[in-house]
Amino acid sequence: ATQPYDDGNIFARILRGEIPAKKVYEDEHAFAFHDINPQAPHHVLVIPKGRYVSWDDFSATADDAAIAGFVRAVGLVAREAGLVAPGYRLLANVGQDAHQEVPHLHVHIFAGRKLGPMLA
Ligand code: 5GP
Repeated sequence: ATQPYDDGNIFARILRGEIPAKKVYEDEHAFAFHDINPQAPHHVLVIPKGRYVSWDDFSATADDAAIAGFVRAVGLVAREAGLVAPGYRLLANVGQDAHQEVPHLHVHIFAGRKLGPMLA
């Protein structure tokens, strides 16, 4: 695990409905909403509902339904991105060196413009 889960993080607050978000998808395992500071015409965040900071502790969970549900939700939301544009990009920042700002596991989906080359 990268760090202990903090229930006060902004995405936990969005999941609890304490702060608003522009929802694009929700099911038992996942929630998706528009990024507040979009880096592409279409920029959506997909998060699992469970208390995971990173892919490390997500992969360590015994809850296979949570893993399958979240990954399926990413695919469903990505399909929507694929409808608005001929191509999309998934991105997950994990930890300090990768500029993870919000300590709740999330996947970015970008679409709607010609994206630059892969960042390293
Ligand atoms: P990270 O750098 O952790 O991968 O990305 C966090 C993302 O969350 C950023 O793109 C940022 O714009 C977005 N974000 C931060 N706070 C909020 C918020 O309150 N609402 C929404 N919709 N997005 C947020």
